[in-house]
Amino acid sequence: MLIVRIAVARPLAQSFFYRVKEEWRDRAVRGNWVSVPFGRSQVRGVILSTVPVEEARKEWPDLDKLKEVSELGELEQALPPAILELCEWASRYYVTPLGEILGAAVPPSTLGLKNKKREPRELKHDSAPPEIKTLTDEQKLAVESIRQAIQENPSAPPVFLLKGVTGSGKTEVYLELAREMLAQGKGVLFLVPEIALTNQLVTRVERGLGEKVAEWHSGLSDGKRRDVSAYLRSGKLRVVIGARSALFAPVKDLGLLIVDEEHDATFKQEDRVRYQARDLSIVRGKIEKIPVLLGSATPSLESLERVREGKYRFLELKNRFSHQGLPDLEMVSLREEPLIEGIQAMIAEKTLERIRETIARGEQVMVFLNRRGFAPFLLCESCGEVENCPNCSISLTFHMKPRSLKCHLCGYKALPPDECPKCQSIEIRPQGAGTESLEEELPKLLPDVVIDRLDRDVVTSQSRLDEILGNFRSGKTQLLIGTQMLVKGHDFPNVTLVVVLFADSLFRFPDFRANERAYQTLLQVIGRSGRGDKKGVALIQTYEPEHPIFEVLQGIVSEEDFIEHEREQRQELGYSPFGRMARVRVDGKRKDETLRLAEDLADTLRGWILRNETEFCEILGPSDSFIERVNDLYRFDLLIKSQKAVALQKCISVARDWATRKETEILLDVDPYGMS
Ligand code: ADP
Ligand code: ZN
Ligand code: ZN
Repeated sequence: MLIVRIAVARPLAQSFFYRVKEEWRDRAVRGNWVSVPFGRSQVRGVILSTVPVEEARKEWPDLDKLKEVSELGELEQALPPAILELCEWASRYYVTPLGEILGAAVPPSTLGLKNKKREPRELKHDSAPPEIKTLTDEQKLAVESIRQAIQENPSAPPVFLLKGVTGSGKTEVYLELAREMLAQGKGVLFLVPEIALTNQLVTRVERGLGEKVAEWHSGLSDGKRRDVSAYLRSGKLRVVIGARSALFAPVKDLGLLIVDEEHDATFKQEDRVRYQARDLSIVRGKIEKIPVLLGSATPSLESLERVREGKYRFLELKNRFSHQGLPDLEMVSLREEPLIEGIQAMIAEKTLERIRETIARGEQVMVFLNRRGFAPFLLCESCGEVENCPNCSISLTFHMKPRSLKCHLCGYKALPPDECPKCQSIEIRPQGAGTESLEEELPKLLPDVVIDRLDRDVVTSQSRLDEILGNFRSGKTQLLIGTQMLVKGHDFPNVTLVVVLFADSLFRFPDFRANERAYQTLLQVIGRSGRGDKKGVALIQTYEPEHPIFEVLQGIVSEEDFIEHEREQRQELGYSPFGRMARVRVDGKRKDETLRLAEDLADTLRGWILRNETEFCEILGPSDSFIERVNDLYRFDLLIKSQKAVALQKCISVARDWATRKETEILLDVDPYGMS
């Protein structure tokens, strides 16, 4: 009798035994896909191992009653062992059932079962020889050190952290190493932040490598994804570029894993399974015994700490490729500078003047505002009433086109009222600014300038995105307004002025990483300016020009000191990278009931700690979440802090068991980022 252990694609912690027909013996291997009867339905699953009958009998005495696998995949479509191992690792680390991890890692369309058997479309690509740039001395040195370290330790190559100022040519370093890997017949996986503009990068990488590159993102259709998977498995395509989930792409003979902008928070998956793709890429590197290269202009404190501990090798590019160097920084105090009157946005006269001058010289401008919509809220000027989302504890954002109030958390939409619902006054006005009001108001101030906008509301498709960026690249658009989308990875050489309209929004939120992240975002925004052969300027408007972040940006305080200060604070409080943390969220429709549940969970965990691991774990809370109510559910958070990953995992399991007992669901976030 042939027995296999199977993980089913369901959120269940345990695995299951099934029998396999004798004639399928050679396909009953670890990693192969199966379809099995499960309860009353058929579910997909993956074989974890074959199990000797004697061993199986110990756990499951009545082997004759075991159900049989009803379908078995083709061998060439089985999950590669390294990826299965990675998923198992993630399942342990994030205390999440393997089935759930598999669901997030492997899109169902690529589970190779019978009905999906179809030859992938022919791959068309005109191959051209790679365009190879002559590396600068700094770049050469970085490549040489990496090459050497890999050669010295081929069976366990190190992790590298490449810190390079914006525009220093990190991508050229990646390309050089990637070419070497390809020459050795190996594949390359290239992870980039979520909203990075893969299009531009794909073209650049294809040129630099002289071969076609696979794109991997959530927008791929099922058929396309299946094809791409097949090309990667067979080695027809050897390079893949993508966000988070590309980490699990089945690249054949993977030789190098690159994570660009490794500090970027979008590597953290925030829905369904909450994993950190940058962290998991290190694990994949260990499993596949390949080098991992992390790159950033502003490395995360986590990665810097690994360098300090001697676990990662550090490399640095200190100079921009263009000889103009980094842009000059100009601070504009919104408290002191005269502001333009009669518009939603706060724009200093001085700022407008800079924009005019830049455009008059035939150069381009980017204006960064981290807020979509027309205005962040609608205020009754008679009684002070603000329209809030009925489902969430935040205000509704006012949008002009189409005229509406929208909740940016749950998607609730309503028509703006004509009069105040509380006092019936008609003096209700949008307050503050968003990218939409900027797009409407800037043309009045800059009548001859062609202005465009880039944010999630206007970028409704890839073609729309390409169009906006294309127009800016060709110079048809002179000024581009945008949110976070504007700052990632762009290389527009004619941009010599970037304006940050309201920098305060970047550091005013309750998160222990707030300063680090504000600094990273600001440096990235600033880095968009002066990338070509003209000197750039970055202008930052703020109410708080004396904030420590600006002292670093202006060079009054050194970056080392700033990071050291952040580091010490985190060490003192046991925050990452010094301690481990997990957030457990309990939510429910009734506030007091939910709070009681959360308190019960906290008591359970505290009791468990007293009885067991004692000093290793600490429970904080329950406290109201940063946003108390979302989607009509009240949320209460507990934080579990621990010095040890294993103790943390055990404590999380206790929370999971509690949830099963109470028949309630908890949201679990290991190594949480932000507040959502
Ligand atoms: P980063 O990724 O560090 O921000 P990029 O790799 O995008 O920097 O490089 C910035 C600009 O400098 C790009 O336009 C790139 O083509 C150019 N560049 C960088 N290194 C070289 C080189 N060795 N030769 C020619 N151009 C280079
Ligand atoms: Zn009112
Ligand atoms: Zn809402």
